[in-house]
Amino acid sequence: MADNKKLIIITAPSGAGKTSVTKYLLSKIPLLSFSISASTRKPRSNETDGKDYYFISENEFHQKIHEHKFIEWEMVYEGKYYGTFKSELERIWNDNKIPLLDIDVKGAIHVHEQFNNNCLTIFIEPPSVDELKKRLQSRGTESLESLQTRLNKAIFELSFKHQFNKIVVNDNLEYACMETEKIVKEFLNL
Ligand code: 5GP
Repeated sequence: MADNKKLIIITAPSGAGKTSVTKYLLSKIPLLSFSISASTRKPRSNETDGKDYYFISENEFHQKIHEHKFIEWEMVYEGKYYGTFKSELERIWNDNKIPLLDIDVKGAIHVHEQFNNNCLTIFIEPPSVDELKKRLQSRGTESLESLQTRLNKAIFELSFKHQFNKIVVNDNLEYACMETEKIVKEFLNL
């Protein structure tokens, strides 16, 4: 892959606000294009295949791993696979845009290793684990078991925050969005 192609990664524990920050950036910076990941989890009621994710079967996912189609992939939750297709980044670069990836912490570290300085990684940090729990509960999309899994994973992921280029604490979403926008614009010389 050509090494002058840039990309931006937003990462965070689930519930830290990374989806909101990602959507804000996409609305403010037209040069960015959302990198649609593949996932084997079931679509939520408000999600569309080919827009939020490429929802594929586990068999298909394993086939794509075998064919080396992924830049990175992870079993983000027990039995649930998520990955970024190489072809997705190429699609966005061919469109003269910069991919914006919303991926988990391990995935972000793996992509960063491959792209080094062409890659900007931003970690969105929740103000506290208690606050994170409240946010996940109020989202209402998680079962009790899934909530606990996500919280445990969040605590683990927080320990990696210093591996990223920038940390933005989301204790106020509006401020966190604006701070992230500034960081991205600086990186892209906009
Ligand atoms: P959700 O199921 O809530 O949509 O996403 C769960 C987690 O998977 C989130 O942290 C999200 O950022 C992460 N994720 C989404 N796509 C990818 C991907 O392509 N690779 C990796 N490693 N994580 C992803």
